[in-house]
Amino acid sequence: MAVATNAVPVIPNVQFDAPLIRKLSQQGPRYTSYPTADRFNEAFGMGDYLQAVNNVRAMGARNPISLYVHIPFCDKLCYYCACNKIITKNRSKAEVYLTYLKREIEMQGKLFADMNTVEQLHFGGGTPTYLSHEQMGELLAHLHKWFRFAPDEAGEYSIEIDPRTVSPERIHALRSQGFNRISFGVQDFDPDVQKAVNRIQSEELTLGVMNAAREAGFRSISIDLIYGLPKQNLVTMNQTLAKVIAASPDRISIYNYAHMPALFKSQRRIAEEDLPSAETKLDMLSLCIKRLTDAGYVYIGMDHFAKPNDDLAIAQRQGRLHRNFQGYSTHAEAEMVSVGVSAISAVGSTYSQNEKTLEAYYERIEQGELPIVRGTKLNVDDLLRRIIIQKLMCNFELSIRSLELAYPITFANYFEKELAKLRELEIDGLLTLDEDWLTVTPKGRLLIRNICMVFDRYLGMKREEPLQRLRYSKTI
Ligand code: SF4
Repeated sequence: MAVATNAVPVIPNVQFDAPLIRKLSQQGPRYTSYPTADRFNEAFGMGDYLQAVNNVRAMGARNPISLYVHIPFCDKLCYYCACNKIITKNRSKAEVYLTYLKREIEMQGKLFADMNTVEQLHFGGGTPTYLSHEQMGELLAHLHKWFRFAPDEAGEYSIEIDPRTVSPERIHALRSQGFNRISFGVQDFDPDVQKAVNRIQSEELTLGVMNAAREAGFRSISIDLIYGLPKQNLVTMNQTLAKVIAASPDRISIYNYAHMPALFKSQRRIAEEDLPSAETKLDMLSLCIKRLTDAGYVYIGMDHFAKPNDDLAIAQRQGRLHRNFQGYSTHAEAEMVSVGVSAISAVGSTYSQNEKTLEAYYERIEQGELPIVRGTKLNVDDLLRRIIIQKLMCNFELSIRSLELAYPITFANYFEKELAKLRELEIDGLLTLDEDWLTVTPKGRLLIRNICMVFDRYLGMKREEPLQRLRYSKTI
């Protein structure tokens, strides 16, 4: 089924070039932040965060607030998972967690009192619906007690859903509780693939909750898929794509499975001989792009597709797209306040991350402290490179003139070394460069991380190089 757009036909804005991808695919960051989280340091602490909030207040607190709430628990382990999660069936753990989470929300709410309204809320995990309907209601009431929220029509309030944990009734309840965007973890509809990753989720169940979301009036429905999983091949992928297109979600994310068993213990349960070869993975990616663009979806960038009339695609056309820890967003320039174990905030020109274990997280809150364990303060060079990476990731182009007007630099001098590398990528056909513009070509869009990596000052630094290479996934 093709996407109904009521608009002019969509010309695919991305081009798959297998030889180029083979030549240039390498390990690299996903740039949900710059500097990337592995560059945060423990010299940054709560005092630095408080200073950042004070600076935001002193500057007139012009930006809205984006809240992220991390619920780390899951019932069952999916073998491919690389998230920060805790597998437990012991529901009392969530009760304890909520008491601390509420204390952290109160502390953050007091800090941001009388500042701006919340225009974005995102519940992620783990599995946010590990919480019962009642627990979710109490948590939301607590958030509303400490923060002012924009009305439903002006705010983007989203939640990640594991369809195995919800009924259609629960989906309606989540809409009544204020969520207006929803994303469903599907990964693959094929039963053998599901078995190989320990995530059995019937098609009927997934489609049932998606229908419920539509009936309940969610403004945007998203599906997450993964390519490169064990037992996947072109036939299974084609069948899954046909089912996804027929279900007609507003947004589709297709992530590349990065098999890194040395780093993620759960991935050791995946039989390596079941994994598709690198060539098959490339063919699957090519198939995904072809089928989705043929069906009318627009390639937003970095694994994301959307219907042309979805907010993300509209924001991209208007140059308003933004990228943060949750991926792409239509709300630029928000202060991102994140609560929960391991959550990362972005306030003013800082990033800060919470304690990564429950024990340490609870202990810090017991002491009446914000549980910040590390972070970084961006210097002028970081801010400049961050804006460049943002623009490239979101708009696939960079106005060199605008940058020179906004910052006291001459691009050709400041980025002399980078320009030499960009010229090589230009010869490869990833981009075009002139005095005014850096423009990413349709071929280069799939390799956007390679282009951004040119501007990442830290990648060239020796310090954590061996670890770095281990931690990043392949750019394709
Ligand atoms: S993929 Fe999602 S549901 Fe599965 S273990 Fe990871 S966080 Fe939990």
